Amino acid sequence: MKIEIVTIFPDFFRGPLDHGIIRRAQQAGLATIEVHDLRAFAHDRHKTVDDRPFGGGEGMVLKPEPIFECVEALDVVPREERKDAGQSVILLSAQGGRFDQSVANQLAALDRIVLICGRYEGVDERVGQYLADRELSIGDYVLSGGELGAAVIVDCVTRLIPGAVGNQASTQQESFTTFSQAQAGNGPSSTCTSGGLLDYPHYTRPADFRGMGVPEVLASGNHEEIRRWRRRTALEKTLRNRPDLLDGTTLSNEDKKLLAQIMGENL
Ligand code: SAM
Repeated sequence: MKIEIVTIFPDFFRGPLDHGIIRRAQQAGLATIEVHDLRAFAHDRHKTVDDRPFGGGEGMVLKPEPIFECVEALDVVPREERKDAGQSVILLSAQGGRFDQSVANQLAALDRIVLICGRYEGVDERVGQYLADRELSIGDYVLSGGELGAAVIVDCVTRLIPGAVGNQASTQQESFTTFSQAQAGNGPSSTCTSGGLLDYPHYTRPADFRGMGVPEVLASGNHEEIRRWRRRTALEKTLRNRPDLLDGTTLSNEDKKLLAQIMGENL
């Protein structure tokens, strides 16, 4: 997979791309990540990439010309052919559709993505209208630039590329991963997979840390009991921290019984 980032702050990515899974994926040739300096596509002496907004108002807006020229220089296929070609040009924007695990899975299946990072008051609207094929937001808050969002997307997508994470099954058992996503990756379909909920709690040695113990069931060796405990605690945590996820999830009969028990105990 090739990931290209268009930014006025190329140095921003030195840290995020140089560690852990992202670094290893690049070294193993699973992902090629390139950062392009938008100012290289500005033609005046001052390398100007922004201008005042039409109609007045606060701040500056990133101009369309350098962004169009930069993306055109990357030789991505035209918008209408991108889906078939496995390519996507994405504008980072607080006004975009929400980036989540299911979008990360869609992007990880592509061959090439280009991420355009906005700054200032944003990007000339024609970039989103005519150049990018989608706008993505990493959450309902306003960042000062698209770089952090691009780094988030690169991280989430890269770890889903087959081979990037040592144990591929672990990316299929995590929070937000639906059963169908896990099965698409030929991963385990046991109910230890989150099935779109939050992950279950994890513990490691020591069994007693400053008097704080580990649930006994985890040392029992009884796989069925452990599976059931994990499902119950995943449901508990989801109910407590992200009840909205329960609405979008298909619950098994066992899940429904466990949820009823949990809610009954918390009354
Ligand atoms: N005026 C814009 C608005 O109210 O929606 C905010 C512009 S923001 C200060 C500058 C740039 O940061 C945006 O063009 C976008 O690239 C990036 N950005 C801000 N919030 C973001 C978010 N939640 N997700 C992705 N990118 C974001």
